[in-house]
Amino acid sequence: MQIKKSRFRGGAHIQYNKELTAYLDIENCALPPEVILPMVMNAGAPCEPIVAIGDKVKKGQKVADADAFVSVPIHAPISGEVVAIEERLHPNGQMVKSIVIKNDMQETLHESIQPRKSYQDLTRQEIIDIIREAGVIGKGGAAYPLHAKLTIPEDKQVEYLILNGAECEAYLTSDDAAMKSNADEIIKGLEIVMYVLNVSHAIIGIEDNKPLAIERIAQASKRLSEDYRIDIYSLDTKYPHGYKKNIITSIAKFESPSGMRSIDTGCVVMNVSTAVALKRAVMDGMPLIEKIYTVSGRGIAQPKMIYAKIGTTVDHIIQQCGGVNENARKFVIDGPMMGISHFSTHIPVLKGNIGLLFLTDKEIDITTIRDCIRCGKCVDHCPVRLMPSMLSEFALYEEYEKAEKHQVMECIECGTCAYVCPAKRPLTSNIRMARQQIKTKKRARKTG
Ligand code: SF4
Ligand code: SF4
Repeated sequence: MQIKKSRFRGGAHIQYNKELTAYLDIENCALPPEVILPMVMNAGAPCEPIVAIGDKVKKGQKVADADAFVSVPIHAPISGEVVAIEERLHPNGQMVKSIVIKNDMQETLHESIQPRKSYQDLTRQEIIDIIREAGVIGKGGAAYPLHAKLTIPEDKQVEYLILNGAECEAYLTSDDAAMKSNADEIIKGLEIVMYVLNVSHAIIGIEDNKPLAIERIAQASKRLSEDYRIDIYSLDTKYPHGYKKNIITSIAKFESPSGMRSIDTGCVVMNVSTAVALKRAVMDGMPLIEKIYTVSGRGIAQPKMIYAKIGTTVDHIIQQCGGVNENARKFVIDGPMMGISHFSTHIPVLKGNIGLLFLTDKEIDITTIRDCIRCGKCVDHCPVRLMPSMLSEFALYEEYEKAEKHQVMECIECGTCAYVCPAKRPLTSNIRMARQQIKTKKRARKTG
């Protein structure tokens, strides 16, 4: 194992608060009475239902799909009956067409779910097609379909295949739990990716606040096929080390120029939990229908690592965790730095979600916003080398063209600027708003 120190500029040492769940075993969530499957679950085109109200469905059966290349199908995580196809509240705050399945509690598996003994008798393209059909997407906000990431343009070559186990966000320990509990599956998933991309070497980067995960992954990597080699890098714990450009800088020792995709610089970065989903799709024939969610914060009675069906409601998961404490003030989906706070818990957990946080007054910053004191901290800490104070001002005055000219679309919405700002200015929220406005205007121009 090689020890590497972080090389990326900016970022911050934040309050990690991972101890609430870091030492807990993964617990299976009780079967939910129903699941809600929104047709928007991944980057790219939304899906359309291929079932109707009244249809009986089995666990793992495909229930929605799209024709577009950048999209993946959605599968029933339970067996039961389709009782509604209607607009339901989505974690993004909008009403979205969703399939609602009532659970028959039988867990009847669909006939299409068939395990494989080996992947080597499949062509690379066949594996990519299997991954698409299984609905596998990358973890986190982007929710980019994995088959699209693994489809490398002919004029590009993969120099660095990096498995991202940094999990730098505060509170979240889902990847840590996966590395400790599913290390063999992660290594098998990575081996399949190496076969698909025709590379013999990969690197796994894990932050050094996860020593047991590093140990388990190192043990599991000894069982790797001898055709392949894996190096494990222990990375400095620093936020946002898990952002793909930062992990590339730390491992490959170069900075990706702005506006370039990872593959333009010869890099493919994939998350450790995505490797588990990939292994299950290819070897077990199982689509992405369940995953580990971190349920944490001092506002939940029993913080837990919950293995739940996609589409389970947050309300149902709260019940599994003993309810919400009286002092809970804020509900956040995913991490406190990059996640979004939500006004309702009557929403389903999706493929791209990682955690549910219930935060108390002590855990959220309720300090009054003050005037900017021109300290420059937000600039010093921005990992993308932007000028957050200026971009935030442009956003407030709706000067979107100026914001775009000053690279607002390069912002990764990591939240570091707002975290370090002594005046507690909501820099990231303002910048996020400007980015949304610019995206909306561009979409409107395209559609004429
Ligand atoms: S401007 Fe964007 S990328 Fe830079 S620190 Fe703020 S949120 Fe992160
Ligand atoms: S960190 Fe806050 S106070 Fe300092 S320059 Fe940036 S916006 Fe102003």
